[in-house]
Amino acid sequence: MRGFGTTIFAEMSALALTTGSVNLGQGFPDTDGVDGILDAAAQALREGANQYPPGPGIPALRQAVAEHQQRNYDLAYDPDTEVLVTAGATEAIAAALLALTGPGDEVVLFEPYYDSYAACVALAGAQRQVVTLEPDGAGWGFDPGALERAITPRTKLLLLNTPHNPTGAVFDDRQLAAVADVAIRHDLTVVSDEVYEHLVFDGAQHTPIATLPGMRERTLTISSAGKTFSVTGWKIGWVCAPPPLLAAVRTVKQFLTYVNGAPFQPAVAGVLDRAEQLAPREALQQQRDLLCAGLEAAGFDVHRPQATYFATVDLRTSAAEVTGSRTDAVSFCRELPQRAGVVAIPSSVFYDSAAGDAFVRFAFCKRPAVLDDAVRRLREAGAAR
Ligand code: PMP
Ligand code: GLN
Repeated sequence: MRGFGTTIFAEMSALALTTGSVNLGQGFPDTDGVDGILDAAAQALREGANQYPPGPGIPALRQAVAEHQQRNYDLAYDPDTEVLVTAGATEAIAAALLALTGPGDEVVLFEPYYDSYAACVALAGAQRQVVTLEPDGAGWGFDPGALERAITPRTKLLLLNTPHNPTGAVFDDRQLAAVADVAIRHDLTVVSDEVYEHLVFDGAQHTPIATLPGMRERTLTISSAGKTFSVTGWKIGWVCAPPPLLAAVRTVKQFLTYVNGAPFQPAVAGVLDRAEQLAPREALQQQRDLLCAGLEAAGFDVHRPQATYFATVDLRTSAAEVTGSRTDAVSFCRELPQRAGVVAIPSSVFYDSAAGDAFVRFAFCKRPAVLDDAVRRLREAGAAR
């Protein structure tokens, strides 16, 4: 794991603390979990849910996950053989990659990619091949030819993330069909990270790739309670997959954490039937609008996201006053706390290629007053130049 060092999220959150900056780096909400969920966890804790839960997760949560997939996507999973509770989506991703890939295998992923993907591919001893997502006017897209060229005889697995961190893109039907076509023709397993499934805006539609013809049997669908219910510290995630794939992941998961989150599992089970209503979609959409408008007013060129917690700016096409004449995301983000009192994430760290060198990610999962403060700081730092 030489070369992986400290995650960018830890580095930037530490920098926010030492410089007293507004932290729009690491993506976590600054408000507490949705209605009732905290009391449910407290009650579970007081009522004795404090010892190891069952290895696959408590039955009530596995049942709730299966019902969630059925209700939202018309996907049927058997809660006993096709659903596994994990320590966040992070463990689900790690266990899936460790279970299904190894030395000599290649994993195809889209860049920019969530940082744990590259680390888990490395932990598995496999190699990654990336396909670049590029801004394409309204959203982000990829060249299907580039996806085809990324496949080799060694390719075992394709790792997909939609809605997508850090771009905020939601893969549309055409893009999903292109991924499914490649997966089926090359007989690949697909791991689909859908942790932002309920945080989509402007009426956009999230479609799990498992719903496409021929895909359910080769797809592991991963999600988590963290984003949907604003409890990112609880680390309750899950995987849905056909029995042979799920069994492989369960085998690995047993030896990673074994189990986690005893009092949180019943609390999540109790609200998952209202995920669609409880997810803070409207509030986040307003926060997105607030941040994007503020960044634009300050002089940034903003790629407006359709989903997630994050907006991306392109330093190359933003005003020199507000970028400090920097087009390199890493040096911009290292300097920004001192210059403006704001922390952001250089999206370039989520790329293998140079395509993201000028992209910076700002999180908007913060209270409006915090976003206003950040935008004011950015404007004032720009005006002071
Ligand atoms: N995948 C993506 C795309 C994420 O953004 C995150 C966390 N923000 C995770 C996985 C990890 O989820 P969890 O906190 O449930 O482990
Ligand atoms: N997923 C969060 C983000 O992208 C951070 C999670 C973490 O710190 N590992 O900001």
